[in-house]
Amino acid sequence: MSDQYQVFAKSPIGNFIIKNLGLPSPVELDRFEAPTPVIHGAVLLGAAPGSSLSADIAQILSNIHANSYAGNNSELQQVAARAGLTLSAFNEGDKESKFKAVVFDASGIQNSEQLHELYKFFNPIARQIQTSGRVIVVGLTPESAGSVQQAIAQRALEGFVKSVGKEFKKGIAAQLVYVDQAASANLESTLRFLLSPRSAYVSGQVIRVSKASVVDVDWSKPLAGKTVLVTGASRGIGEAIAHVMARDGAHVICLDVPQQQADLDRVAAEIGGSVLALDITAADAGEKIKAVTATQGGLDVIVHNAGITRDKTLANMKPELWDLVININLTAAERINDFLLNNDGLNENGRIICVSSISGIAGNLGQTNYAVSKAGVIGLVKFTAPMLKKGMTINAVAPGFIETQMTAAIPFAIREAGRRMNSMSQGGQPVDVAETIALFASAASTGLNGNIVRVCGQSLLGA
Ligand code: NAD
Repeated sequence: MSDQYQVFAKSPIGNFIIKNLGLPSPVELDRFEAPTPVIHGAVLLGAAPGSSLSADIAQILSNIHANSYAGNNSELQQVAARAGLTLSAFNEGDKESKFKAVVFDASGIQNSEQLHELYKFFNPIARQIQTSGRVIVVGLTPESAGSVQQAIAQRALEGFVKSVGKEFKKGIAAQLVYVDQAASANLESTLRFLLSPRSAYVSGQVIRVSKASVVDVDWSKPLAGKTVLVTGASRGIGEAIAHVMARDGAHVICLDVPQQQADLDRVAAEIGGSVLALDITAADAGEKIKAVTATQGGLDVIVHNAGITRDKTLANMKPELWDLVININLTAAERINDFLLNNDGLNENGRIICVSSISGIAGNLGQTNYAVSKAGVIGLVKFTAPMLKKGMTINAVAPGFIETQMTAAIPFAIREAGRRMNSMSQGGQPVDVAETIALFASAASTGLNGNIVRVCGQSLLGA
């Protein structure tokens, strides 16, 4: 659905009116066009003294041939040089230089006094980040810190990125990546994603990277040879997920209810995938999924995207609407996972990716049934993650306002509020959710397990 306000804001007269009235000014966000270069524009790298992740960050910047800069930090220069990355000089106070991304290794911050390092690094360059740019702070997972003081200081980083995400405007996204002790080799898929336009509508998020086996992938086709099943694939977000998975090299099995057969056939034909017309609430859904994926070398990735809303205030809600929403959005995914995990239905290094919602985080008027189901999805991820073995992972995305048929059905005033009440002042596109799912799906993301990442442009709801 097109956003008429954004079209108006781009016109000269619209721009003039919006600036003068102080209205939200949505910029056109950069989105994925080709796997290389990962980032268009310069990267400024910084580090607090004694930080331990800079060598791995430098290695990743070197792998993606990023045009990288650093200020007057000789410790960082040496670390980067050892990782094969040449950092061009950047003189503090040079207001002409503009950066597409700024990456700061904060892992060396040991106590709250040293949080001054954030101010020292970011204050002089705060106005030098380009439209649709990135601020990425990399820290140490507080739970794995060596002292209480260090844990407190690392936890404090969250307030910084969330504020920067709200302050910098111009479509600039800010994220915090927590890396467990000895997990820095698992950082690459996350850093590539966050630097690239794939993460256009993800902001104010905390992603946790844990130690896992490191799997080499072809970064231009990270799902080559993989079989992916996407539920609810005939339209909306599911259709976008199917397209992105196929683009990344997977064979995609598109699942939806039999009533959606025509659209399902269309999507599968567009991406050279196959079709499974099935209601996910059927008692034998897990068995059918296992049977169809067995013919493709087994299942590598399942994306539980199918979902419905049946909004009513609690006082007006009929019991069958309560049950229907919870059954489709939560119980069906639980049952399918149980079957697949107990019957060798998911390959080694397999991925389960769920679709929650910010309604499941913030709650929403008229959505008690939906919010229960989507909060339950978060529980499903959190409590399944520690039980998985053989490199399998489970993660979820929690979309905010995404432009689909589901949100087109929302009354105008509520829809407009949903669209604007976020740091990007606009709704997201289905592809934004799909790209985040592709991060979790990648064979290189074994270090991501139990994460819930919101794709909401840093919505004020539940923030
Ligand atoms: P949509 O209504 O456009 O698509 C949902 C698809 O799921 C449909 O094709 C539908 O036929 C299918 N489906 C429903 N019940 C099914 C069943 N029992 N078995 C198999 N397939 C079934 O919705 P969308 O906006 O693309 O949303 C996709 C997911 O994203 C949902 O889980 C939704 O809750 C979630 N979400 C969407 C938004 C948004 O802004 N659009 C925000 C947060 C979360």
